[in-house]
Amino acid sequence: MAAKTSLYIHVPFCERKCFYCSFYSVSGREDYIDSWLEALELEAARYHCENKIPLKTLYVGGGTPSVLNISQWQKLINIITKNFNLDNLQEATTEANPNSLTPELVSFLESNFFTRLSLGVQSLNDSELKTLGRLHDSKLAIKAMELVRDSNLTLSCDLIFAIPGQTLRTWAASIKKVIESAEHVSTYQLTLEPETLLARDYDNQALNEAGYKFYRYAQYYLPRKNFIQYEISNFALEHKECLHNIAYWTHDEVIALGPSAVSYINHERIKNPSSLDEYIYLAKNNFPDELLTRERLTPHERAIELAILKLRTKWGIKRVDLLPEVEQVISRLPEDLFIFTPERVALSKRGMRLGNSIWSEIIDL
Ligand code: SF4
Repeated sequence: MAAKTSLYIHVPFCERKCFYCSFYSVSGREDYIDSWLEALELEAARYHCENKIPLKTLYVGGGTPSVLNISQWQKLINIITKNFNLDNLQEATTEANPNSLTPELVSFLESNFFTRLSLGVQSLNDSELKTLGRLHDSKLAIKAMELVRDSNLTLSCDLIFAIPGQTLRTWAASIKKVIESAEHVSTYQLTLEPETLLARDYDNQALNEAGYKFYRYAQYYLPRKNFIQYEISNFALEHKECLHNIAYWTHDEVIALGPSAVSYINHERIKNPSSLDEYIYLAKNNFPDELLTRERLTPHERAIELAILKLRTKWGIKRVDLLPEVEQVISRLPEDLFIFTPERVALSKRGMRLGNSIWSEIIDL
């Protein structure tokens, strides 16, 4: 049987909270890693069946998975292999941060079915890294990139634009250096949720306005270096796209384990609580259903969401799958936001830059 399911595991530990971060993670609680692993084992066992579920992709994200030591990583791998079938695994990725990535961890990952590493570089300018509250400097980031480049893992790097004080020159320098090692680059506009430290000093509208030129530069420069923009935020060399991300954009089944993780199973979203303590409590009590958040999408909601997700990608939507109401919205918008072929409709480069305003038209349908 072909593997169709993806597995996501959320590692909710960080050495320190970055000033812009709204992902669920805790810092200074590394002594809870073993309790989290025990809870994870109980959660994974809920999916264990006689014919273990075959996985297509695996993604260990966070938080900061590289804060786990090798013996904790070994426990994590044991949980995965004990409960899931990896015979047809096509891709296994972990996230890591430059300051905690070690040569030992890279070798361990290589020898344990991992194929990719996504490194939180964010910038190669020291003053921008300080503004973001990152623990690494550019030297450490370059060292980590080179470490992964010299391994068998595919290196993906995250970069942030519209950082206060960033210029086109520093942005261009970061991109140029990153692609000396990386085969995949994810570029994110700095967006501040109200609870983040940086939100006290900066507002999203100003960042948004500043972001346009940086994004445009990435769209101009990266394709000249053979990095194809295959999704609004993602650029990759040929065949280096992230299959796990593609699984989300095509509504494939995703089992997600760990605090704040969101599974998508049988058209239902099931969200774990965004609290390490609550998660551990739930695991000890066999995950009582009333404490999980469930959201079942109606066929119409699914279709609208899928249209938006597909429009984010370079493949766009097949015309035969186009809902009449989505087609109507597209026909009202400027033609140069789209690329029309006889089979498909996809966003043009300009359309990708203005994606948010396009989604807001579709989402209300
Ligand atoms: S390392 Fe990543 S997950 Fe952790 S605080 Fe920083 S941005 Fe958030």
